[in-house]
Amino acid sequence: MAKRRSTVTSNDTKPADHDTALTSVDPATGEVIGTHVIADDAAVAAAVAQARAAAATWGALCFDERRTHLLRWASKLAQKSDEVCELIHTENGKPLDDALLELMLSLEHISWAAKHAKKALGPKRISPGSLSSNYSARLEHRPLGIVGVIGPWNYPVYTPNGSIAYALAAGNTVVFKPSEYATGVGNFLADAFAEANPELPEGVFVTINGYGATGAALVRADIDKIAFTGSTATGKRIMAAAGEKLTPVLLECGGKDAVIVAADADIKAAADAVAWAATVNSGQACTGVERVYVERSVSDAFISEIKRILTDVRPGSDNKASYGPMTMPSQIDIVRRHIEDALKNGGTAVLGGPESIKAPFIEPVVLVDVDEDSEAVAEETFGPTVTIRTVDSVDEAVELANKSKYGLSSAVYSKKNGLNIARRLRVGATSVNSVLGFAAIPGLPFGGVGDSGIGRIHGEPGLREFARPHSIAVQRFTVPGMALASYTRTDSTMKLLRKLVPFVYGRRK
Ligand code: NAD
Repeated sequence: MAKRRSTVTSNDTKPADHDTALTSVDPATGEVIGTHVIADDAAVAAAVAQARAAAATWGALCFDERRTHLLRWASKLAQKSDEVCELIHTENGKPLDDALLELMLSLEHISWAAKHAKKALGPKRISPGSLSSNYSARLEHRPLGIVGVIGPWNYPVYTPNGSIAYALAAGNTVVFKPSEYATGVGNFLADAFAEANPELPEGVFVTINGYGATGAALVRADIDKIAFTGSTATGKRIMAAAGEKLTPVLLECGGKDAVIVAADADIKAAADAVAWAATVNSGQACTGVERVYVERSVSDAFISEIKRILTDVRPGSDNKASYGPMTMPSQIDIVRRHIEDALKNGGTAVLGGPESIKAPFIEPVVLVDVDEDSEAVAEETFGPTVTIRTVDSVDEAVELANKSKYGLSSAVYSKKNGLNIARRLRVGATSVNSVLGFAAIPGLPFGGVGDSGIGRIHGEPGLREFARPHSIAVQRFTVPGMALASYTRTDSTMKLLRKLVPFVYGRRK
């Protein structure tokens, strides 16, 4: 089979014209690092047709065969880790060490999906129950066909892979539209898959490049599911557009994650984790900590420890910097607006303030006791800022944490009651005495409630998102006189049933 580029529309030599090509730039320097041809409606349709043609072959492979191909892909990415980390660093801005951590997490997920698809989706015998004891019952799972994946830029390998690897492991082919801010990384992933699996037909995993219009064309195309990761506003537009054809959606959207610090918490550990999770990747993480609710008796100690840690944390693009630049220039104005709004609404900046914005970098900003209705507390900031509110009880902390329209993830610090507090939170995931602990455990599903989205990636639920359950009931023999689904049913059968119903069901507790 001919070797091919997996990027259907990529052409590195095409000049940058905003209508036909997008340029990828280093957010720290503004330097152009790549040019990619934008896929128009026809190119999107061509990519989908290619994926449709490949779906028959890829979907017909057994789980073990797909596992081999996915593990080869992971291994190729691992062999090229220096190259991919350098690309993540230059295109996204995050430090090389953070890029490596992101790659490592992604490889863990690819391997998990590859190795667990058979158990999660393989055929299962189901008990037919007493009414149908003359049947054997089976639950099988079929691939959906083509999954369209639309990704964000902030974790350009990890986040889309929660859909790509799991959709592939479930037997679907994938058409991926990476973010316009992570096009090079997206194409690298698909090219590595093709390179690792030269014997596979074209179209098992392809990318199409472009802005929102290319994503919108993918949503309208002949696909069987759309898996989106990005902002809530875009998620809503995608769901509305997908509704035209009843194309199912998986939406992984924004967050406003809260941490609860109880009076019995290890304050140093909590402050250390919050300082990192509020500013890592310049705060551009859907699961970044944006709000903290801390009990009064430990509040001063917690705030002064956070301040102490973050005073030494510095953004930059050199290899000693703690985190990088803001990847998307327009986000800087949102962060500025939130800081100003917080200060206008009774909040105090105990570290930094509007002067911390030195585009494209933003130094850490810690805001305390900001009005809960202000934008800084209610809306996703997506910058290296955090609000801390002192509360009188864990009950108050839980109430305020749950007040958000978002419900993605969260964390609880408490030596004795962590699990109980976690259970009360209206979110998709919670870490107890750590932050983001769930992200590195591939068996745990991930996703949100409310404005944070619909559906789950990762774990067995994440595999089932990309499969169609197929129930099969096989009648093994007929019971004389008991043909209930037939006009040959007799009065004496019904008479017997009238006696049996209260006897069988009436006694059940
Ligand atoms: P975004 O919504 O601006 O863009 C995401 C993707 O959607 C991009 O590829 C973009 O080109 C595409 N797009 C834009 N308009 C479209 C349309 N009308 N139809 C189809 N596609 C369209 O988001 P972003 O700025 O890239 O990412 C940041 C957001 O992503 C934040 O809100 C963050 O919380 C969220 N996020 C969520 C998760 C999660 O797992 N829940 C993970 C990472 C990021």
